[in-house]
Amino acid sequence: MNCLRACCWSVKLNAVSIQRTRLQRKKGYDPEPFDVPPLFQSPPRPVGMLRWLVTKFMWPQSALWIAIAALVYHLFTPGLTRFSSLSVDDVALLWLRNVVLMVLVIGGQHWWLHIRRAQGTEFKYEQRWLAKNRKSFLFDDQTRDNMFFTLVSGGGIAALYEAVMFRLYATESIPQLNSLWLIAAMTFAVFWIEAVHFYVNHRLLHVDPVYKWAHALHHRNVNTGPWSGISMHPLEHVLYLSLPFVFVVIPGSPFIATFCLVYLMLSPSPSHSGFDRFKLTDSRNIHGGDFFHNLHHRYFEVNYGVLLLPLDKWFGTFHDGSLEAHEAMKARRRASAEAGDTGEVINPDPTIRVGPDGTS
Ligand SMILES: [Zn+2]
Ligand SMILES: [Zn+2]
Repeated sequence: MNCLRACCWSVKLNAVSIQRTRLQRKKGYDPEPFDVPPLFQSPPRPVGMLRWLVTKFMWPQSALWIAIAALVYHLFTPGLTRFSSLSVDDVALLWLRNVVLMVLVIGGQHWWLHIRRAQGTEFKYEQRWLAKNRKSFLFDDQTRDNMFFTLVSGGGIAALYEAVMFRLYATESIPQLNSLWLIAAMTFAVFWIEAVHFYVNHRLLHVDPVYKWAHALHHRNVNTGPWSGISMHPLEHVLYLSLPFVFVVIPGSPFIATFCLVYLMLSPSPSHSGFDRFKLTDSRNIHGGDFFHNLHHRYFEVNYGVLLLPLDKWFGTFHDGSLEAHEAMKARRRASAEAGDTGEVINPDPTIRVGPDGTS
C-alpha cells in the first residue's frame, strides 16, 4: 500500500515536473516550449535522438553550413602551399572572401526579412523593428553598427585565425587526418565540440568586468536581426572564433578549420534573425530563428549554451520558453537578489558556524 502511494506520488511529481505552459507576452511571437534533445530526456531515447539530429538539427541549417564551407574551401580559398609563410596579403584575401560571404548570406536574410519585410511581423519574436536614431549604437543605427563589428572585427579575426591554422598545416606542425571518412566524422563532431567551447567562453563573458568590457556590446541587441549574430566586441571575437585551435591538439584538417570559421560566422545569422520561422509560401514555413538563444537575449541569465548539448539544464540555467521555467528563473533572481542584500551578518551565537556569505 505504502509502495503504491509512493509510486503514485512519483508519477504525480513527474507529471508536475514536465508540466509546461506556453509563455505568451502581450506583444511579440512566442513559440511552443521546447524540450532538450531526446538523448538527454528521461528516459533517454537514442532512436528519437537520431531522428532529431537528422530532421531537426542537421536539416536544413547545419547541412547548409557544411555545404557552404565545402564550396568556400574548394573554390574560394588559396591552396595550403601559399601559407608556408604567413603574409598580410593572404590574410587580407581571406578577409575579403569572408566579407563577400557574409554580405551574401547575412545581408540576404536582412534584406528579405527586415528591408523587404517579406513576411511582415509573422513569427517575429518582437513586434518592433531594428533601432534607428539610437545613441547606444555606432552611427546611431543598429544595423550599421552590427555590420561594422561583424565585417571588420569578426571577418578580420576569422581570416587571421584561418591563416594561422593553414600555416600550421602547411608546415606539418599539427596532427592531420587523411581519411575522408574521419574528416567527415570530425566535421560532425565539431557541432558537439563547439557546444562545449561556446558554453565555456559565454559563461566567462558573463562574469564582470569581462561582461562590461566585451560582451555588453553584443547584448545591446535585445531585439536582434541577422547582423546581430556575430556583432561582438573584438575581445569576444578573439574567444568566440578560437574554436579551430582545438585542432592544434586533436587531429583535424584544413577543411575542418575553414568549416569551424564558416559555421561560427554564418550560423548565428538565422538564429538572431528575430524570426522563429521563415515563410516560404502562404502555407509553408521552415525553422528559422533559435528560440533558445532568443530567450538569452531577453533574460540574460538563462541559456548560455546551445540546445544540442543541454549544459544549461545540468547547471540550472535552462529556460524552455514555458511559463513554469519563467517563474523558476524569476525565483532564482529573487533568491540571488536577497542573498546579495544579506551582506555581513552578526553572529550572536558563537556555537553556530557562519560562512563568509552569511550561510551557516
Ligand atoms: Zn546572441
Ligand atoms: Zn550573453
